[in-house]
Amino acid sequence: ERQKHIRNFSIVAHIDHGKSTLADRILELTHTVAKRNMEAQILDTMDLERERGITIKLNAVELAYHAKNGQTYTFHLIDTPGHVDFSYEVSRSLAACEGAILVVDAAQGVEAQTLANVYLAIDNDLEIIPVINKIDLPAADPDRVKAEIENDIGIEADDAVLASAKQGIGIEDMLERIITDIPAPSGDLTAPLKALIFDSVYDSYRGVVLSIRVFEGVVKPGDQIKLMQNGKTFEVTEVGVMSPKAVKRDYLMAGDVGYLTASIKTIQDTEVGDTLTLVDNPAQKAVRGYRKMKPMVYCGLYPVDSSKYNELRESLEKLRLNDAALTFEPETSEALGFGFRCGFLGLLHMDVIQERLEREFDLDLITTAPSVIYHANLADGTQKEVANPSEMPDPGTIDSIEEPFVHASIMVPSEFVGAVMELAQAKRGEFDTMEYLNNNRVNVIYHLPLSEIVYDFFDKLKSSTKGYASLDYEIEGYRQSKLVKMDILLNGESVDALSSIVHQDFAAERGREIVDKLRKLIPRQQFEVPVQAAIGNKIIARANIKALRKNVLAKCYGGDISRKRKLLEKQKKGKKRMKQIGSVEVPQEAFMAVLRTD
Ligand code: GDP
Ligand code: MG
Repeated sequence: ERQKHIRNFSIVAHIDHGKSTLADRILELTHTVAKRNMEAQILDTMDLERERGITIKLNAVELAYHAKNGQTYTFHLIDTPGHVDFSYEVSRSLAACEGAILVVDAAQGVEAQTLANVYLAIDNDLEIIPVINKIDLPAADPDRVKAEIENDIGIEADDAVLASAKQGIGIEDMLERIITDIPAPSGDLTAPLKALIFDSVYDSYRGVVLSIRVFEGVVKPGDQIKLMQNGKTFEVTEVGVMSPKAVKRDYLMAGDVGYLTASIKTIQDTEVGDTLTLVDNPAQKAVRGYRKMKPMVYCGLYPVDSSKYNELRESLEKLRLNDAALTFEPETSEALGFGFRCGFLGLLHMDVIQERLEREFDLDLITTAPSVIYHANLADGTQKEVANPSEMPDPGTIDSIEEPFVHASIMVPSEFVGAVMELAQAKRGEFDTMEYLNNNRVNVIYHLPLSEIVYDFFDKLKSSTKGYASLDYEIEGYRQSKLVKMDILLNGESVDALSSIVHQDFAAERGREIVDKLRKLIPRQQFEVPVQAAIGNKIIARANIKALRKNVLAKCYGGDISRKRKLLEKQKKGKKRMKQIGSVEVPQEAFMAVLRTD
């Protein structure tokens, strides 16, 4: 009976089209959050999300809506991130819903990730309600956007909700549409328990907290539950919903979205995507999970202070619980000591993890430049996966090297097509097709090496299209390329953490760029330090870091003591993220020089 009045939905959109702001308005209108407690983007709970103005983690909240028909409905709203790196979060939240609100910016129109996300929703058989947001903008053109939604996505948009999340227009219309258009969940309450784990976080007091969507049956404290994939069993200690703070409940039933704790102590015990059932009366089949995400970008993470190695491992374990796509395994570097090779979905993901480690776990880290996974086909007929450039086998033993390619969809106004093609060509892209979406928007499809996207493709794309281009891509497979390993030598010694894999044709140029960058980044030492780039035994670029002449305090003449102290502090701070390599002190930025050479 209660089930009929539940609606589970997600909000999907291209980044910046207004999902989080819309979610804020919904929370306000349903009085889920008292006005005085309301802050912008309330679901973006991480500091990092607020600062960057992006949503990284999905968030599920329960709210009560008093509809015009007099009934009160229970909504479970799941906010999702829009950036391509986090699309696995989107697919997870969608698996817990019956419907999706598709937000499209009234001025920008349909963008690359609008398409990518809406296809995920269509794959999950969700009912889709188009909402055209930001109609308050002078440049808003809802009719054009309606046409784009119909033509590009192929869903009816005539009755799209017209909204302004900023001014609170159209919010109630949207809530009414959720009731009429999105079906209520239909799971059997008397069937054996079947619940999907779609997220988990580690809480130092309660242990692991699982976010679940119950599809069939009921779960309550005291129940013995079992994870269907790994067979582990636990006793449920608490269930409840987020509203948006945790609120305890007596039970969760088919159709509900909420949290569950079961004194799960070790964080490796649960896996997002697994199905929960009861030990006594187990379900036969697991819920259709979602495809596992494979990391695409790898980098080394090392504690600046080597004694923090165990702390780093524990922190990574905790983060992985909250982020199923993160992988890591121990690795050692001659230059950097003991650390981990970590896998990420993309560069933004990598950035976010690194920053979360430093903030939430108070660690100082050295990160090496990101690399994709290469396949080295060896002369003996075997293949080796190489996620760390320094581990590329000796050229003499290699027949060929393959690298991952992506199928990239770039949407731009037609005036920028030339610029996009020029850039894609320069980045070793292979043209596929081009499709006019309407009179002035074009979808350009290229096959591109993933390493070029990791390198600087997106930045260059944005700058060469005045920010108008949007990019979406998926891995399509491996291709052979003429790749070589480039080593960097400091003071005559090769530094493993600075090695990279480059295309033969670009090697000389990149070598010069990196050497020059390092020359500027590495502080002067007491002696002159040569920096060299080499392929095999051949030096392809060289520069010298001149020897230091004065010490920092010399210019102060002992006069102003506070200024002196400031200088010293500044120097100390700068030291924090330095690593002693041989006799040379190398700052964090140097390890990224391989990546960003501008
Ligand atoms: P998200 O990335 O989809 O979550 O987008 P946000 O909700 O963070 O919004 C992105 C930006 O658009 C923010 O600066 C919002 O203030 C702004 N914004 C959101 N909705 C509206 C709207 O209806 N009108 C206008 N003018 N700006 C909006
Ligand atoms: Mg957001």
